[in-house]
Amino acid sequence: MAGRLTTDKIIVHCTATPGGREVSVQEIERWHRKAGYNGIGYHYVVHLDGKVEAGRDERQIGAHTVGQNHCSVGICYVGGCDANMKPKDTRTEAQKAALLKLLKELKQRYPTAKIYGHRDFARKACPSFDAKNEYKNL
Ligand SMILES: [Zn+2]
Repeated sequence: MAGRLTTDKIIVHCTATPGGREVSVQEIERWHRKAGYNGIGYHYVVHLDGKVEAGRDERQIGAHTVGQNHCSVGICYVGGCDANMKPKDTRTEAQKAALLKLLKELKQRYPTAKIYGHRDFARKACPSFDAKNEYKNL
């Protein structure tokens, strides 16, 4: 896998699974391999309890946002849908805190990177909240 030359974006995603249902990194890895990716597409996964797990090596090019993978880090929280699979911000308090901490750390490593949601680059609801606005002052 090739490394990135630049990192000017940090892009937030959700697993698009019902709120309250945990999803493992292994499960996401299986979905992404089935979709034809060479492993999990995200660099980090934020679980319901706020635990952050690494996915793909942070230095490698991810597979999460068409057209932006070569210049971005992709992070994903578990959830993002209601019981009827409609988009919903299902982040737990622990996930909100963990996301904030992770984003601050990434901003330290990539000071010029701006934070976005997947929906800023695609006709999707992902990550079911306005990440660009929520994290604009980080
Ligand atoms: Zn997404």
